[in-house]
Amino acid sequence: MSIQKTYWDLLLEATQKALEKHYFAVSRHETLGEATSFLAEELAGPEIGSVGFGGSASVGNSDLMAKLKAKPHLKIIDRNNHEASPAERQEMSRQCLLADLFVASANAVTLTGEVVNLDKFGNRVAAIAFGPKKVALLVGREKIRSDLTEAKNRVKNLASPMNALRLKLPTPCSKTGHCHDCQGETRICGVWQVVERSFPKGRIHILLVNEEIGF
Ligand code: SF4
Repeated sequence: MSIQKTYWDLLLEATQKALEKHYFAVSRHETLGEATSFLAEELAGPEIGSVGFGGSASVGNSDLMAKLKAKPHLKIIDRNNHEASPAERQEMSRQCLLADLFVASANAVTLTGEVVNLDKFGNRVAAIAFGPKKVALLVGREKIRSDLTEAKNRVKNLASPMNALRLKLPTPCSKTGHCHDCQGETRICGVWQVVERSFPKGRIHILLVNEEIGF
């Protein structure tokens, strides 16, 4: 076994243990495809009638939507459908709060067992906190940080600049790659979330993937 493989296995195992201690359900997957198959087959079973989504490069990079669309009984609330009008997308974001299953990623997870997110409007963090019966978070190994301080640093100086670039926003971070605490309307940093316990136990399922799958 290579040193890199051993390193990532150790880090993923430590992360899984820390998250489980904080009542998250955790499964580990070697590839993104393996994780989306597990999600579609095990987490979106017959008891799930509707699925909503948060904005996520990790989910967007995957084949999850195709796998879920192959299940005819599922109502898919696709607020990332760019053919929908802003008003329709806003309404879908509201409907996601009552979906049976909500799928997103996280901006960071820590070796101290927390899940850390930062939204502009708060639709993703609202659904993760309360509403959907189940939450599934696709989390690549690049999201692991040692503690909350490192996690928040990752969000501000990596995830948010990358998301500003993805959305082609003229924020200072999209020009320099790090946060300038901008004050304009294009700022994408609005609502922080730290989940330190999944209540009810296991409601939030984290699929840890042993690949870099997003940012
Ligand atoms: S506060 Fe502004 S500059 Fe800082 S990461 Fe957020 S959008 Fe970028």
